[in-house]
Amino acid sequence: MNEDSKEGEMAKELRCGEIIDGCEKVIRGETEEEVMTRGAQHAREAHGVEEMDERTAEKVRSAIREA
Ligand SMILES: [Zn+2]
Repeated sequence: MNEDSKEGEMAKELRCGEIIDGCEKVIRGETEEEVMTRGAQHAREAHGVEEMDERTAEKVRSAIREA
């Protein structure tokens, strides 16, 4: 299944539920960095995580998939 790729299409995604049980949020971005930034923002707003430690960031990074 191949959709036309358009500029600005989201290429990476992260399922928050892989990190935090029960969360159904899917975070998308064009790059891994963008997903990380949005993920950190979501974690702060939805889960009260003020700052991700390195271990968590690593876990998040490895949970990012090609969308
Ligand atoms: Zn979440």
